[in-house]
Amino acid sequence: MRRNAEELAKMRRAGRVVAEMHEATRAAIRPGVTTADLDRVARDVLDRRGAKSNFLNYHGFPAVICASPNDMIVHGIPGSYRLKEGDIISIDCGAIVEGYHGDAAYTAGVGEISPAARRLLEITERSLHAGIAVMSEGHRLFDIGLEVQKVAEGAGFSVVREYVGHAIGTAMHEEPQVPNYWPGRPGPKLKSGMVFAVEPMVNAGGAETVLLEDGWGVVTADGSLSAHFEHTIAITDEGPEIFTLAA
Ligand code: MG
Ligand code: MG
Repeated sequence: MRRNAEELAKMRRAGRVVAEMHEATRAAIRPGVTTADLDRVARDVLDRRGAKSNFLNYHGFPAVICASPNDMIVHGIPGSYRLKEGDIISIDCGAIVEGYHGDAAYTAGVGEISPAARRLLEITERSLHAGIAVMSEGHRLFDIGLEVQKVAEGAGFSVVREYVGHAIGTAMHEEPQVPNYWPGRPGPKLKSGMVFAVEPMVNAGGAETVLLEDGWGVVTADGSLSAHFEHTIAITDEGPEIFTLAA
């Protein structure tokens, strides 16, 4: 689906709110803080901006952020888990402004983290930006995953297969999906006005995942660390425009 200028303006505003949720939660991350505390920080931003959450009540999800520490890949329910020095924590959240959605994620270190963990974060974020770099007319949708995969696997890491990016607009998850790997065919042509959430999940060890008993949290099967970076990006005549960056 291609969005017109008015729709893109609303998505840009939703993206700004998500960026602000990122800034606020990032500033609150320190040893001793619980993931429920971070959820409250993000809720305050939504309230202040008069925006709605697209995470809260999504298939019954009970919070406005997903908070996924260490070997948790995605979809962690915020709660009593208390961050400790050396953890990594993935925060994924979104916002709805005038019916239009933004969605973005980052992984941060808690205090000092190991060089191996820092490298995982750097490579995962770099893989996201390698994918974004090919988001322009003349490219195909699945070129994005190919670029992500080259960076992540080139560093000796693995890319999660079961969870993928997606088109986004008047719903958070729209078709088509955006895999973080080459699915064996190029996919649809990218056109100006299309908007996608691109979100590599990169594991330090193997790609295999396990769903926790709460039905939400997803962890690495081998217990290795996992990182997650996501932006909402529009394809424009001038190239990719990231909506979920801070102003
Ligand atoms: Mg997300
Ligand atoms: Mg997403």
